Amino acid sequence: MSTKDYLEKDYYKVLGVAKGASQEEIKKSYRKLARKHHPDANKNDADAEAKFKEVSEAYDVLSDAKRRKEYDAVRSMPSGFRGGQQGGGFGFDLGDLFGQTGTSGGGTGGAGGAGERIGDLFGGLFNRGGGTGTRPGGTRRARRGADVETDVTLSFARAMNGVTIPIKLTSEAACPTCRGTGAKSGTVPRVCPNCEGTGQETRNLGDFGFSEPCHLCHGRGLVVDDPCETCHGSGRATGTRTIQARIPAGVRDGQRIRVKGKGAPGESGGPAGDLYVNIKVTPHAVFGRKGDNLTITVPITYPEAVLGGKIQVPTFQGQPVTLQLPEGTPNGRTLRVKGRGASRRDGTKGDLLVTVDVQVPQKVDDASRAVLEQLRVSHVGDDLRGDLLRQAKTE
Ligand SMILES: [Zn+2]
Ligand SMILES: [Zn+2]
Repeated sequence: MSTKDYLEKDYYKVLGVAKGASQEEIKKSYRKLARKHHPDANKNDADAEAKFKEVSEAYDVLSDAKRRKEYDAVRSMPSGFRGGQQGGGFGFDLGDLFGQTGTSGGGTGGAGGAGERIGDLFGGLFNRGGGTGTRPGGTRRARRGADVETDVTLSFARAMNGVTIPIKLTSEAACPTCRGTGAKSGTVPRVCPNCEGTGQETRNLGDFGFSEPCHLCHGRGLVVDDPCETCHGSGRATGTRTIQARIPAGVRDGQRIRVKGKGAPGESGGPAGDLYVNIKVTPHAVFGRKGDNLTITVPITYPEAVLGGKIQVPTFQGQPVTLQLPEGTPNGRTLRVKGRGASRRDGTKGDLLVTVDVQVPQKVDDASRAVLEQLRVSHVGDDLRGDLLRQAKTE
C-alpha cells in the first residue's frame, strides 16, 4: 500500500463510516458490505468483485491501528502538499499549508489528531525558531516573521546625507522544487515507521529511558524515500533577497535603524519581521560628530586669541563661514555656528561646534622675537603662579 493509494482512496467513505469511527463500527460496516459484495453471492459480477476488493482493502488499513494512523496522517496533508501527486501547479504557500494542516488535524478526531502532529513536524522542518507548533485546538496561529539584523558601513558623507542602500539578506526558506517536503517530485514523505511520526525515540539505559531525536528521520517524523534532487531531502533552500533600505540623513556611528517589515516573512498570514541595520560610519579627516552637532578644531594664533578677529571656518559640504573671535578667547573655547551640523529627524539641523586651538610657534624670526621680548618685559610684574604656590602649601 503506497502513500499514493492513501491519498487517492477514501477508505472511510468506502466503508461508509465517519472518520472518527470506532473499531467496532468499522468491523460491523465491513462485515455488512463484504457479505453484500462477496463473489459467492454475485457470480460473474465484475462490479461487485471490484467493490469487494475495495472494501477489503479499506478494512485492511482501517482495522490496523498503526496503518490507520499512518493513513490519517497522510490524508490530513493539505491539498497543496499533495500537489506533487496530482501533477499540480506550484501554487504552494506556507500559510496555506499550516492553516489547512491545522484544520484537518482538528477534524481527524478519533485518529488521535495525527494531522496536528504533522503540522508540528513541518514546523521543525521549516526551522521555525522556537515555534510552539499547533495549539491543542489544532488551529495554526499567524506568526510574525523573525527580525533580521545586519551591519552596514557608510562613509561620513553618506551618513550625513542619507542614502538608499541595497542589502542582501540570506534566509532559509522551503525548497522551491519540492515545496519543503524534501521528497522528489511525484512522491510524498511517509510517516517515519520507527517513531510513528513523533520524531522522538526512547533509548533505555539501565533503569532510565532517554527520549532523543529519532535516528531514522532525524526528528522530522517523516521519511523521504526518494529525496528531492535540489535540496537532497532537507526540504530547505537558502534564498537570498536584496532589499532597498533607506538610511536617513544624519545617521550616527553605532546607531541602529529599524526598517519595518523587511525582516523574515510572516507565517500563516502573520506580518513580516523587521530589519535592523547597525550603522558604522567611517571617520572624516576634519569633522567629528557629537550628537546632531558636527565638531571641528581650528588652530588660531596667540594674537588672534588675545586681540580677537575674524577667522574662516570650513563647513561640511558648504562654503566656509567667517567667525568673529571675541577679544581674549582662551585656548579650547568652543564657538557655535548654528544650523551647520547633521540633519535631525524633524528636518532641522544641528550646529557646527568650533573649538579653537591656540598655536605656539616652535621657531620665531628675529622680528617676532624682538616683539615677544618686549611683551615679556611688559609682563614682568605679573604674579601668575603666586596663588598656586601658596595654595599648594595648605594642608
Ligand atoms: Zn522517526
Ligand atoms: Zn527540495
